[in-house]
Amino acid sequence: MLKHLRKAGLTALLLLGLAGCGEVSRGAPTIPPETVHVHEYTQTVIPPSCTEDGYTLHQCACGDSYTDQQIPMTGHSYTPVQWEANCLEGEGIRYTCACGDSYLEQTSPPLGHQYAVEEVVEPEGEARGYTLHRCVRCDNSYRDSFTWSPEAFADFFEDAVFVGDSITYKMIYHNAKYKSLGNATILARGGVSLTTLVDKDSSYKLYYRGKISELEDIMTKCGGKKLFVLLGVNDVPWLGVEKTIQKLDTLVNNVLEKNPDVEIYLQSCTPIYLKREKGNLTNARLDEYNVLLKEYALEKGYHYIDIATPMKNEENALRAEYCLDQSIHVNDAGCAVWINEIKSYLYEENLYEQSK
Ligand SMILES: [Zn+2]
Ligand SMILES: [Zn+2]
Ligand SMILES: [Zn+2]
Repeated sequence: MLKHLRKAGLTALLLLGLAGCGEVSRGAPTIPPETVHVHEYTQTVIPPSCTEDGYTLHQCACGDSYTDQQIPMTGHSYTPVQWEANCLEGEGIRYTCACGDSYLEQTSPPLGHQYAVEEVVEPEGEARGYTLHRCVRCDNSYRDSFTWSPEAFADFFEDAVFVGDSITYKMIYHNAKYKSLGNATILARGGVSLTTLVDKDSSYKLYYRGKISELEDIMTKCGGKKLFVLLGVNDVPWLGVEKTIQKLDTLVNNVLEKNPDVEIYLQSCTPIYLKREKGNLTNARLDEYNVLLKEYALEKGYHYIDIATPMKNEENALRAEYCLDQSIHVNDAGCAVWINEIKSYLYEENLYEQSK
């Protein structure tokens, strides 16, 4: 068609040329009229479903289409079946439609999962160990009681300093035995408190290389870059929680003034043995302090590690199996839980990876 038109045009030009200026050509061809398309529809009947109307679809090869002859949706048609209870659903009647839709009318509550310990996986290298619990009915499972091998993250503590009282003192022996804090510097002395460490008149300070020293000076001398603090149990009974936080703030500020690039890790106070609770020294009081300590850490941008919770029993006191002396001190098993919590924190906050 196009070819034909071009040819016709060319002929017309030739004729015009031949005719010369001023003369009208008489030989121009006529363009044929366009052919008119008439739709030819095929019909398809779309049957109704439970939730959608049916209809007839008319389609032409050109793409044009329309629908008509609507047939209303049928709605679900349920068949009732007696339903046995499982972990997530109670006993009752289940109504099921052929389309797959179903619902349950429960006449008893779900059974709930019934977990049994399937496996205790020991930690290996930097991979944590765990206890695997599996439901005896439905195969659902979860992991908890995470543990770390002594060597996990040990080099993270190369430039770490632990400071504390007699509770932390136990950590010196624990780490000498298990090396789970690597070459960390552990500064501990029975009876020191936030009060004695910040009070300029007090001589009850920490020893570093045989010399009584202020914490901020020790941090400078040993080149510590991470400070882990576990203090408060010797202050809270006498000072109350708010004033104890103020003393802690002074201690941390003293350290940061001389050592501005030190990262601060505040550990919660550990619980005490139930029979040791007396007067103002109670687990409830220490909990109160820990709540405030966490708020303080958050506000200042310091780390807060809850080492207390996994050491507690149902009575909110130090578990007997973690207690050294039916008092406030933890034994090796308690130290292991303590270090596990620190390592879990490092893992969860991705701090070990960042430190490499
Ligand atoms: Zn058409
Ligand atoms: Zn249905
Ligand atoms: Zn289950």
